Amino acid sequence: VFTSLALLFIFIGFLLSRWMAKRALVPVETAYHQQREFVSNASHELRTPLSVILSAVEALDMEEDNNNPFTKKMRKTLKHEAKRMSALISELLALARTDSNNGVAELRKEAFDAFPLAEQVVDSFSKRSSEKNLSVKLDSPETLPVFGDRDKIAQMMYILADNAIKYTPEGGSVKIDLKQQGRKKNEEFLFTVTDSGIGIAAEDKARIFDRFYRVDKVRSRKEGGYGLGLAIAKSIAVSHGGTITVDSVPGEGSSFTVSIPNVHPAESLQQQELKNA
Ligand code: ADP
Repeated sequence: VFTSLALLFIFIGFLLSRWMAKRALVPVETAYHQQREFVSNASHELRTPLSVILSAVEALDMEEDNNNPFTKKMRKTLKHEAKRMSALISELLALARTDSNNGVAELRKEAFDAFPLAEQVVDSFSKRSSEKNLSVKLDSPETLPVFGDRDKIAQMMYILADNAIKYTPEGGSVKIDLKQQGRKKNEEFLFTVTDSGIGIAAEDKARIFDRFYRVDKVRSRKEGGYGLGLAIAKSIAVSHGGTITVDSVPGEGSSFTVSIPNVHPAESLQQQELKNA
């Protein structure tokens, strides 16, 4: 009896442990997919209440009797944080859309001049860069025709310039270079942002393009960052068939380069014809 009871317990124990192992071990890919789906669903759900909060604060701003300094300050904080959160949700949703499209963002490609676009980006930072006494320089040919998604490329320029300004201490320098490289049929659009800032340690270089990865969480949060900027910049570069790379020396500065194949439709057609000939 003892032996059969012992055998029964061992057998039940074995079944139980298998069942628990099965429940505990979700394949990594499934867990990864579930996690991304959860973030995407949560972002969708958060959008509506957040826009209600924003509209409510804006309505409060329009009240006539609203000059109490304390409530004024609170309203300002509410508005600032709600806008920040709204920007975060838009970023998460953009990344989620890319995920559901095999990691490639949907692009609306057109021919545009990248030089005035970069000028606009630099102009948008003029207040912040002068507050920090940074020297910001833009180096580009007079015109630089690019074939790509104008809004997304502007967003990518904005993210890299924003980081350069955020992570460069007072009195430093930021340089933005636009270049066309290669021969006509094999052109590349190169966008480089170089700063004299805090730099990035070797062990962090590979991870800074991951979602929510921030080297110094306190500093990044103080600067308003969530750790999504570089993930988005990378997704934009990759969706254009390009790359993003970083060179950095801690304490001396960093240099981010985006390289995007720059083939205009007529030229790519010609290439196709050449290939088929
Ligand atoms: P964040 O919103 O935190 O800036 P990003 O994805 O844009 O998020 O960047 C991820 C992290 O990479 C930052 O938190 C920062 O630690 C580091 N980083 C990005 N750009 C620079 C830079 N130009 N110089 C130094 N560190 C940088």
